[in-house]
Amino acid sequence: MFDVIIAGCGPTGAMLAAELRLHNVRVLVLEQETEPVSFVRIVGLHIRSIELMAMRGLLERIAERARRRPAGGFFAAINKPVPEGLDSAHAYLLGIPQPVIVHLLEEHAIELGAQVRRGCAVAGFEQDDQGVTIELADGEKLRSRYLVGCDGARSSVRKLLGVGFPGEPSRTETLMGEMKVVAPPEEIAAKVAQISQTHRPFWLRPFGEGVYSVVVPAAGVTDRSEPPTLEDFKQQLHSIAGTDFGVHSPRWLSRFGDATRLAEHYRVQRVLLAGDAAHIHPPLGGQGLNLGVQDAFNLGWKLAAQIHGWAPETLLDTYQTERRPVAEDVLDNTRAQMQLSSPEPGPQAVRRLLTELMDFNEVNRLLIEKITAINIRYDFGAGPDLLGRRLRDIDVKHGHLYDLLHRGRGLLLDRTERLSVGGWSDRVDYLADPTAALDFPCVLLRPDGHVAWIGNDQQDLDDHLARWFGNPTN
Ligand SMILES: Cc1cc2nc3c(=O)[nH]c(=O)nc-3n(C[C@H](O)[C@H](O)[C@H](O)COP(=O)(O)OP(=O)(O)OC[C@H]3O[C@@H](n4cnc5c(N)ncnc54)[C@H](O)[C@@H]3O)c2cc1C
Repeated sequence: MFDVIIAGCGPTGAMLAAELRLHNVRVLVLEQETEPVSFVRIVGLHIRSIELMAMRGLLERIAERARRRPAGGFFAAINKPVPEGLDSAHAYLLGIPQPVIVHLLEEHAIELGAQVRRGCAVAGFEQDDQGVTIELADGEKLRSRYLVGCDGARSSVRKLLGVGFPGEPSRTETLMGEMKVVAPPEEIAAKVAQISQTHRPFWLRPFGEGVYSVVVPAAGVTDRSEPPTLEDFKQQLHSIAGTDFGVHSPRWLSRFGDATRLAEHYRVQRVLLAGDAAHIHPPLGGQGLNLGVQDAFNLGWKLAAQIHGWAPETLLDTYQTERRPVAEDVLDNTRAQMQLSSPEPGPQAVRRLLTELMDFNEVNRLLIEKITAINIRYDFGAGPDLLGRRLRDIDVKHGHLYDLLHRGRGLLLDRTERLSVGGWSDRVDYLADPTAALDFPCVLLRPDGHVAWIGNDQQDLDDHLARWFGNPTN
């Protein structure tokens, strides 16, 4: 009997497993693939995800394998500088191959004690009042108290659960792959600069040793189950650029669509959904992996609290009430970015207008804050603007705030040195620091770094500790 079984060891499943292990939850991750994917897609970790990695002590090992890039110019690929005033100690982008980030997160989860079984596909399940019985594709049955579907866009868990996935089907398809080219780099760069004015997405980016990452719109795809071929790439490059640049020797080839869908529910009793299993959208702005990892971060401590019996009654349901609107917002901004990427005259005119407007720092910053997820404010009721937002990594005595959050517990940061976490000290850490770089006397942080309370009154604090962390133990 496990506490939680997670279907899928992608970035979302691996992050969730690690978060649950911080709270000693017995976790099993089931991954249908026998080997990690070799598919080298470079993804961008955005500011909020970088902050999460810092909050769990993972940033150094991730940064070693990543390339640091400016945190700007990625809204609809409109080329603008990094906006001024991004409120983060980690205001940059980390480009990293997806298999590398997945490997690092899985390694972290295993170090913390999670079990991962490969070659095991979840094929069915039944839930009752006590738990979930999960059936694998080979007929083996496993039992856990909760099941979380982190099994990607075609999630079996979501389908078996009967949760609707409304939205728009894919209308345009894009080819993406890595291959060698014969044409000289200058010729490629000149053509790409010219063609990407009118055709998006379109790029050939050098990867070193004559290998290029190639992205080109696909011709009408009749059978989506058929993988693309090198010939498809050649034909499309020819028809758009007038040459196929001599592409040959592909490392891998893939195709993706622009379907946009959101699960109607994130939880049905003991079964939950996270990551691409709950939401899909076009990859513009590079937000999908970030969104999934952030779902896991939101869910982990709440599910652990539920399992250990100290969760306030509605805590687990706040996973959906907080995270589904965030996904809705991401879906909307990718819809907008898709429109802005259309070669039609109307959207092109809007793009030119927005390009001008983004010269105003406020506009540029708003859009980048959206994509990097540092603008999120959960509704925790009336209070100062900081309430419900994440707190940036501020300086505290002897170091940085995020260094105090590695264990995934709550934290009371007290500049008055008068308050206490009392009977919640087994769940919430305490730091008295009159010099902390904070505009408020005291803040209570949840394990995900969001500000759950601001004030200086012990009774009010106790009420809020009970709201988020349940009854005191003594
Ligand atoms: C071209 C492209 C570029 C992208 N660029 C970015 C980017 O720059 N930044 C970004 O944030 N996102 C990006 N994304 C999106 C990102 O790749 C996904 O959002 C992310 O992989 C979702 O993670 P996940 O763990 O939720 O799902 P997945 O990565 O799909 O992982 C799901 C896992 O579940 C396993 N599985 C499936 N079914 C079962 C089952 N029945 N039982 C057990 N295991 C199962 C799968 O094998 C897989 O390992 C991009 C996507 C594309 C297509």
